[in-house]
Amino acid sequence: MRYPTALAALCLAGALSAFAATPTADLLVELIRADTSNPPGRTEPLDQLMAAKLKPLGFTVEIVPTPDPGKSHLIARLKGDGSARPVLLASHADVVGVERDKWTVDPFAGLVKDGYVWGRGAIDFKGGIAVFAQAVMRLARIPLRRDVIFMIEADEESAPYNTTWLAKTHWDAMDCEFALNEGGWIMKRPDGRVRYVSISTADKSSIALLLTAHGTSTHSSMPRPDNAIFRLSKALARLADYDTKPQLTASTREFFLTLARTSQPPDSKYFYDLVNSHDPAVIARADREISKDYLLHAIMRNTIAPVFLNAGFRGNVIPGSAQATINFRVIPGTTAADLIAEIKKVIADPEVDVTYQGASPNAVPGTVESPTNSGLYRALAESAGQLWPGVPVTPYLFQAGTDAGAWRSRGVSVYGIYPYPISNDDLSRMHGNDERVPVDSLEQGTELIYRTLVRVAARQ
Ligand SMILES: [Zn+2]
Repeated sequence: MRYPTALAALCLAGALSAFAATPTADLLVELIRADTSNPPGRTEPLDQLMAAKLKPLGFTVEIVPTPDPGKSHLIARLKGDGSARPVLLASHADVVGVERDKWTVDPFAGLVKDGYVWGRGAIDFKGGIAVFAQAVMRLARIPLRRDVIFMIEADEESAPYNTTWLAKTHWDAMDCEFALNEGGWIMKRPDGRVRYVSISTADKSSIALLLTAHGTSTHSSMPRPDNAIFRLSKALARLADYDTKPQLTASTREFFLTLARTSQPPDSKYFYDLVNSHDPAVIARADREISKDYLLHAIMRNTIAPVFLNAGFRGNVIPGSAQATINFRVIPGTTAADLIAEIKKVIADPEVDVTYQGASPNAVPGTVESPTNSGLYRALAESAGQLWPGVPVTPYLFQAGTDAGAWRSRGVSVYGIYPYPISNDDLSRMHGNDERVPVDSLEQGTELIYRTLVRVAARQ
C-alpha cells in the first residue's frame, strides 16, 4: 500500500526509486550510527561529521564545546545579502537511551528495511537533522536575501548544556527573525495519504510539585491513625480519580476544528462540540470520548503524573513524613500558584503540604503563541499545500517541552514540525522500541523544508 504513494512522492521530489536509499535516508543512516544517547550525550563526533559536509558548500561552521567533554553544539551559517534577518533551523543531536533487549534490530546500526530507516532518533530528531541538513545543503547553490542558520544542539533530552545554556554566551550566533524546530506532525491516514499538517506555535512546559504528608513518627508495633504513608496514599488516590478541565488555546481550538473536518462521525461531532458547545454535559461527553486518545487528552489540559515516591527508612519505624513528586505538563500561562491551589482543593487534607519543587528550564513565561501570519509560517503552510493539495494545515500546542524556549523567551517566533509524514503507529515508537521513519517520508519532508526555505530566504 505504501509504495504507489511513495513512488508518486519521489517523482515529485525528483529522487530515486523507493527501493533504493535516498540522499536524506543515507544521511540519516550515518547520523544514527553516531551513538548520541543522553546520558552521556556525546554529540561532538556527529557535529564533526556534519561540519565536514557543510564547510565545502560554503557554510561557516562553529562547533561550540560545553564544559562536559565530547558534548557540543554546531552552528552553521549560509550567508545571504543581509536585506532580511536570518531564518534558523534548530535540531537536536542527542537521543534518549534504549532498552536494547526489546529492539528487534540494532538501534545504532541505521538499518534500511521494509521502506523504513530504523534506529534510535529516526523520528526524534536525527530524521529532522537529516531533512533540515539536506534542505539547507540544496539551498547553498541559491542567492539568498537572508542568512540561513542551521543548528545541531546538545542536551535537548536533558539539561544542563542545552540551548538555554548556549544562548547565554552565543545569542548573536542564534539570533534570527524566526526559527523552525521539532514540534507538530504531518499525520497520515491508515491508507497512507496525509491527513493534516500541524505546526506547533507553543510548547507545554513542566512544573513539579511536592506532596508531603505528615504523621507521628513512632515504633511500627504500635501504629496510630495519623500514619504519613496512608495519608499520602489517600491524597494520591484522590488525585488519581481527578482530572483537570480542558483549556483550549487559540491553536488547540483550530487544531480540533481541523480534526473535526478530517474525521468521521461521531468523532467529528465530539471535536466540534468541545470547541463550540456551551453545554457542560456536552463538553464533558466530548472530552471523555476525545481523551481516549492520550495525546489529545494531554494537549487540551494540564496533565498530572506522579513520578517519585519517598518514604520510610527502617523496617520497624513509622516515618514522620512521606513524599511524592507530581509532574504537571501545563498549558502556557499556568502558574505554580494556580496548580498548588487546585491540588490542595482536590486533596482536601491540611496535613498534606503541597509545595513548589521546580519547573522546566525551557519554560516561557506568559501565554504567547508564535503568530500564524509570519513569513515562515506562511511559507511552510503554502509549501505543504503544494505538496499535499487540499490537506489542512493547522497551528498546534506541542504536548511536551522542546528547546524552543531559548528563542521564544527572547521574543523570537518558533514553529515546530517533525518534517516527515508518519502514522500513529510510527509515532508510538518515538522514544520507544524499534523507532523508525519511512524512507519516502524523509524525501517528502526534505522537499517541504527546501521549498519553505526558498520562499522565505531566496533572493527574488
Ligand atoms: Zn526531540
